[in-house]
Amino acid sequence: MSSFNYDLLVIGAGSGGVRAARIAAGHGARVAVAEEHRVGGTCVIRGCVPKKLLVYGAHFAEDLKDARRFGWNVSKCTFEWTVLRENVLAEVDRLNDLYRKNLFDHQVTVWDERATVVGPNEVVLAGGRQLTAKVILIATGATPVVPSVPGAELGITSNEVFHIEHAPRRVVIAGGGYIANEFAGIFHEFGAQVTLVNRSDQILRGYDETVRDRLLQISQNKGIQFRFNAAFERIARQADGSLRVHLKDGEPVDCDQLLFATGRRPNTAGLGLEAAGVVLDGQGAVRVDEHNRSSVDSIYAVGDVTNRVQLTPVAIREGHAFADTVFGGNPRTVDYRCIPSAVFSHPPLAGVGLTEAQAREQLGSVRVYTSDFRPMKNVLANRDERALYKMVVDADTDRVVGLHMIGPDAPEILQAAAVAVKAGLTKQDFDDTVALHPSMAEELVLLK
Ligand code: NDP
Repeated sequence: MSSFNYDLLVIGAGSGGVRAARIAAGHGARVAVAEEHRVGGTCVIRGCVPKKLLVYGAHFAEDLKDARRFGWNVSKCTFEWTVLRENVLAEVDRLNDLYRKNLFDHQVTVWDERATVVGPNEVVLAGGRQLTAKVILIATGATPVVPSVPGAELGITSNEVFHIEHAPRRVVIAGGGYIANEFAGIFHEFGAQVTLVNRSDQILRGYDETVRDRLLQISQNKGIQFRFNAAFERIARQADGSLRVHLKDGEPVDCDQLLFATGRRPNTAGLGLEAAGVVLDGQGAVRVDEHNRSSVDSIYAVGDVTNRVQLTPVAIREGHAFADTVFGGNPRTVDYRCIPSAVFSHPPLAGVGLTEAQAREQLGSVRVYTSDFRPMKNVLANRDERALYKMVVDADTDRVVGLHMIGPDAPEILQAAAVAVKAGLTKQDFDDTVALHPSMAEELVLLK
């Protein structure tokens, strides 16, 4: 019998931590998890899941409008934020209970307290209890970064946005990344006047340029305002309770809600890691090797806290690979190539593999195919919103090295198509596949 309290102590019950705990327990390890907030982590409690539910809720604005063109007699509809908010939060509660039960069913002990590392095999809980473990896994995720400008405390982040009292009439969103574009779409559909303020001159850096340009164009046509190359100067509360956002250049913007979506930083502050000898990088992320091991032999880390790829399914893979490696006698690493990703904007966009610019930089010669079309449903709905698919092909091998798309259901379509890209299929393989008609996805096998 080991002299440690546990074989594995996981700090953080998010996607990566919960998966690691469950799999390690399945391999016979004695496992505990310490969590200061709720079981489920960012994705379940204040990220992907409630966000996606808001995206669904927001999309009804368009569906109800379009329904009239399809013959439905839709009387005047009104939107009640509190109904959606309460239903979404109830779903989050349900998932939190489910995650907790899942850990319980795997004999994992949950300590509902913040844990601090005090040595290679030891943590102390907020209540003062000391716990020892043969292996400690840091899975504390990341936390929103708020730029330090006077009045920044008047804004909210994605941590608070799911709990706001009222749907804002006017909202300013700081940032031009995932969260900014997703919430720009959500609030716009709820009827708000949205202004997105970004420090650079582009949105969604990292996505294919043609696709993000299309999102920008569609968003602007809808009435979402963009202020590029803009820096915050200060934020002030006005007499009527609203906020005035002063930018370094140009007119200030008044709003009822200011949402900061300016990136996320690894959650390592005050965790005691440096004192225990764990090396962090310049961003505060835990430096790990391919097996998720930190500079201290008994301390590992997975997920956003390592700042490799900040995506839930990646954290889950890392947690699983860690548990199989350390407790299952099956050393495994995560393959980071061809990770598909999506932005649940209105309309959504998704991509996998190399963008056109990356392919041109990395490969000898490249062929690019695009389909720019108005989805059938949009045509009948009189909705002047075009979808765009782009396929990037290595001209020497005919291999499809990238797929990028924006349009209805793009994430659903891309997930399936990503299998083909990951498998290294060629443009000819796509062409050899008979189209499924009528669908939007058939464009992928009809590209000329
Ligand atoms: P992103 O990294 O996507 O975007 C950050 C944005 O904020 C960029 O536009 C960036 O500018 C800008 N920015 C960064 N720092 C500052 C600063 N100090 N002052 C002003 N602007 C700044 O971050 P998000 O917060 O939107 O999301 C965090 C992460 O969460 C994402 O990277 C993603 O990994 C994950 N996520 C994934 C989702 C999904 O899969 N659908 C949804 C939501 C989040 P610049 O233009 O210079 O880059």
